[in-house]
Amino acid sequence: MVCGKRASVFVSYLGDYLCAEHFVEYFERRVFEAVSHFRLVREGDRVAVAVSGGKDSLTTLYLLSKFSGRLGVEVFGIAVDEGIAGYREHKLDALRRLADELGVEVFVGSFKSYFGFTLDEAVNVLRERGYVVKPCSVCGVFRRYVMNAIARERGASRLATGHNLDDEVQVFVMNALKSHVDGILREGIVSEEVGALLVPRIKPLYFIPEKEVLAYTLIKGIYTPFVECPYIVYAMRRPVRRWVNEVEDEDPGFKYRLLASKELARKKIKAPRKQPTYCRVCGEPSANPVCKTCLYRAYLDENYRLVVEKKIGSINFARYGLE
Ligand code: SF4
Repeated sequence: MVCGKRASVFVSYLGDYLCAEHFVEYFERRVFEAVSHFRLVREGDRVAVAVSGGKDSLTTLYLLSKFSGRLGVEVFGIAVDEGIAGYREHKLDALRRLADELGVEVFVGSFKSYFGFTLDEAVNVLRERGYVVKPCSVCGVFRRYVMNAIARERGASRLATGHNLDDEVQVFVMNALKSHVDGILREGIVSEEVGALLVPRIKPLYFIPEKEVLAYTLIKGIYTPFVECPYIVYAMRRPVRRWVNEVEDEDPGFKYRLLASKELARKKIKAPRKQPTYCRVCGEPSANPVCKTCLYRAYLDENYRLVVEKKIGSINFARYGLE
């Protein structure tokens, strides 16, 4: 309790209740301080906000647009239409509504226009092949490709995403379970600058718990429809998310301690500096000779497989765990 007004939000790790006004002030101050303290943007930056139409990305768009004058940056939205019937169109409507209110431009790119098929169509192929690759794996790789492409085409110098504390902790646990040390060392509040083709990514909500983002959107009236992607059931993240939330309920502050452990590890063990390397097929930044986008496209689309094979010879999908 700060002012004696009616409590709106319980902040468990503070062990205190805040009224709506003080909660909003506390929330916005922390996001602004994270952006300034970690120098997520520089004056004159053109910041593209990747907006899915969910609460986290809408909040990121709302706040960066609100702070743009103080930060001296220009802000616009980019969105990806994967082609998920009954889901994406509703989220895009919510995005357009907020963008209109804010007077922010939004650019939308679709899987269909970039790759020639929708995610729904891709999932039909994945299903026929026994889901050796999960829909979210394909979706994540394609989304990153499209977002980076639009951000670059539109002259962005930073690409902001809506990842919050819960997302970061879940990814940390998943990386730890897979012994993916490189992933742990590279996933921070700002990504390393690797060549001109990859727009550096920033995460203004990095320290903000998901529940607080939800409370903020409810108080501020930032609308997003409660529809869930039908493919979420295949995501490995679900059980991890459940487990992390259960421990947090028993032991408030657990998520912050996990994030702190990750940051300590990142400080002690520096990830080796990456030299920019490029996909031999499409020319986009890639750690491997063939990027994952081209690999998945070839796996899903016979015509694209021929394009890839013309350039690099035959592909052994089994080598990549795709058979
Ligand atoms: Fe894509 Fe998976 Fe998210 Fe659905 S749940 S939008 S398939 S990443």
